[in-house]
Amino acid sequence: MLNVDLHCHSNVSDGALAPAQVAALAQAKGVDVWALTDHDEIGGIAEAREAAGDLGIRHVTGVEISITWAAQTIHIVGLRFDETNEDLRRGLASTRSGRERRAREMAAQLAEAGIPDAFEGALKYVGNPDLISRTHFARYIIERGICADVADVFRNFLIEGKPGFVPHRWATLKDAVSWIRGAGGIAVVAHPGRYDLDELSLDVFLREFKRWGGAGIEVITGSHTPDEYGEYASVARKYGLLASRGSDFHAPGESQVELGSLPALPASLVPVWHDWNL
Ligand code: AMP
Ligand code: MN
Ligand code: MN
Ligand code: MN
Repeated sequence: MLNVDLHCHSNVSDGALAPAQVAALAQAKGVDVWALTDHDEIGGIAEAREAAGDLGIRHVTGVEISITWAAQTIHIVGLRFDETNEDLRRGLASTRSGRERRAREMAAQLAEAGIPDAFEGALKYVGNPDLISRTHFARYIIERGICADVADVFRNFLIEGKPGFVPHRWATLKDAVSWIRGAGGIAVVAHPGRYDLDELSLDVFLREFKRWGGAGIEVITGSHTPDEYGEYASVARKYGLLASRGSDFHAPGESQVELGSLPALPASLVPVWHDWNL
């Protein structure tokens, strides 16, 4: 069986390792087919592809686009697109814009909550000045000894109702799916178990996702519990969506799931890679 991992991050977004280091780790962990899916950014793809080629693992282009749908932030993974596509590149650039201003507001809130200098503190962890994320703030809050780990931070800070949360309008569902499709790629709903969607809202969301040309959904992801593997396997079957598998790895010792270290997709599902001639 192929070990396929189609979701992870480098320091081009909020991961801790450079793309080539992520590639080396993927190979060490036995990954055969790999996509680097940085948030709203494809600047790491050239390095990822070259490193994967040198290491003898198969690489497909990837990205994880932040969208706002019904006042919620949702992530859409794009796979196997042409990264030179101009509409996609412009769309991602516009999605990234505004992160610095948001980060300064987050820092101002944290200062009021007794955590000064968080903007500068977060920046120490940033590999790409265009992509300051909540993860970088989380690392600084841990460094200060205020929280024990990332999960602890995201219970007490940076989420709605807690210090350091600044609402943000990301791309639309239609735009994100259209950019990916327009560049020849496949759009996949990332970690569906993480959203606050009841059965009815999920139904509305997935119908709209399919209407714009979305085709896949993550079933086996580091963000799902074993119960959710089964739950979203049923969702994939019910909606006729291709199933994906990805660790959502960010950093050694920080992410619960290592690259490539996930159960296989249930045999009853059609993998997103079913027609990739691997
Ligand atoms: P941002 O794009 O700046 O809103 O940051 C989102 C990132 O924060 C996600 O991609 C995750 O890496 C991280 N994150 C959000 N919620 C959690 C959580 N509950 N536990 C761990 N990491 C989280
Ligand atoms: Mn992230
Ligand atoms: Mn995500
Ligand atoms: Mn991710």
